[in-house]
Amino acid sequence: MKFQSARQQVVEMSVLLADHGYFAATGGNLALKVDDEHIVVTPSAMDYYEMTAADACVLRLRDLAKIDGDRKPTVEAGMHAKLLSIRTDCRASIHTHQPIASACTLLGKPVPVLRAEDRALLGDEVRVVGYAPSGTSWLSSKLAKAVLPDANAYLLRTHGAICCGTSAERALRAISALERLTLDYLRERITARAAQASPQQAALQRLLATLDAQPIQEMVV
Ligand SMILES: [Zn+2]
Repeated sequence: MKFQSARQQVVEMSVLLADHGYFAATGGNLALKVDDEHIVVTPSAMDYYEMTAADACVLRLRDLAKIDGDRKPTVEAGMHAKLLSIRTDCRASIHTHQPIASACTLLGKPVPVLRAEDRALLGDEVRVVGYAPSGTSWLSSKLAKAVLPDANAYLLRTHGAICCGTSAERALRAISALERLTLDYLRERITARAAQASPQQAALQRLLATLDAQPIQEMVV
């Protein structure tokens, strides 16, 4: 089997992401760059708890030709390939429908990154990529236009998120940091709106803001 250790790593990352609620059912996918010409991606429509290294697909980066693997690659292989082709410093790319960051995409606004440790992982700002349907080259092109050299996290409008990293570990950490960042961002916006609302609305919004939002667990990687 070609690139067996990278394919096994794709399995382990997928299970970790599923265990922590970042991948749900068959939603979410990822890619690892194994050399200058190849990526390994998750297969399409696969239960990640059933997946084995042989199910991961090896693709040629430049044209997505399948080099190894029996299954169909994720429909987002083109988006990962585009990101990893532009960000030649990165080795891993993860796309999720993680709950809070995905909710944040509905606002359509970039999210500033204030904490130094988050900036090191995510960049100074999380940009929003305009809507295009999943799995299309239209979505990949929109992402390509948004990509910056030091920005490792992007919100896909009304869809989800994509993060990249110089290692699998850093991409996983970026996914986790993005969920916490967007939770803080949404909480701040609710509080700010409460300050401008009528007394009754303000009381309701304060109550909402104090309800324990249940962020999915942080990953220890
Ligand atoms: Zn998606």
